[in-house]
Amino acid sequence: MTEKHSNRSEALRYIGNLYAPEDSALTAIRTHFEQAGMAIQIGPEEGRLLQLLIKMNAVKTIVEIGTLGGYSTLWMARALPEDGRIITLDRNPDHAAFAKQSLAHDKRVTVLQGMADELLPTLEQNAPYDMLFIDADKISYPSYLDWAEKNIKENGLIVADNTLLFNQVYKKLPEGDVAPTTHANMREFNQRLANTSKYDAVMLPTGEGLSIAIKKST
Ligand code: MG
Repeated sequence: MTEKHSNRSEALRYIGNLYAPEDSALTAIRTHFEQAGMAIQIGPEEGRLLQLLIKMNAVKTIVEIGTLGGYSTLWMARALPEDGRIITLDRNPDHAAFAKQSLAHDKRVTVLQGMADELLPTLEQNAPYDMLFIDADKISYPSYLDWAEKNIKENGLIVADNTLLFNQVYKKLPEGDVAPTTHANMREFNQRLANTSKYDAVMLPTGEGLSIAIKKST
């Protein structure tokens, strides 16, 4: 089961067109993947929301897990100050190469190709970071949250896409292509973010479910 932003509702398209018009660079990245049958990146209105979160929290450093072509990366990079930095990870060499090329003009962006479980430990030397954005393999969300708990600063942001798990997360048992382990892991991820002693969090009912959390100080 894949995410389908071509199915974005009329309301979302209205919001996107009004508040989040794309320039040619964003359109080029989005259409590259849509033409390949992979309309799986965030929508423009979600890109705009990420920008607002970055600005509201004065975020300067971001780690992104799941680059795809760098669509969300470009939205986020543009909200950073000149000396801000976003490090984005993708395991797919073709996707990482495309993103590197697309984002080469922005010195705030670093694209790393490889497995997140191998790359994330190498980022720990520069921790803590102000924000983590997760839009990657769903089964690994709890382990990415483990990393965030150690490497995102207090009062930092954790944002995650697809946390409705294709409208399966609230069902007792998953249907379709969602594996039981993935289902269990996403439920664990959401339950952990709902723990108010550790996070202030909510999930927005975007088509895919977008979780937004602030890591509380301990
Ligand atoms: Mg996604």
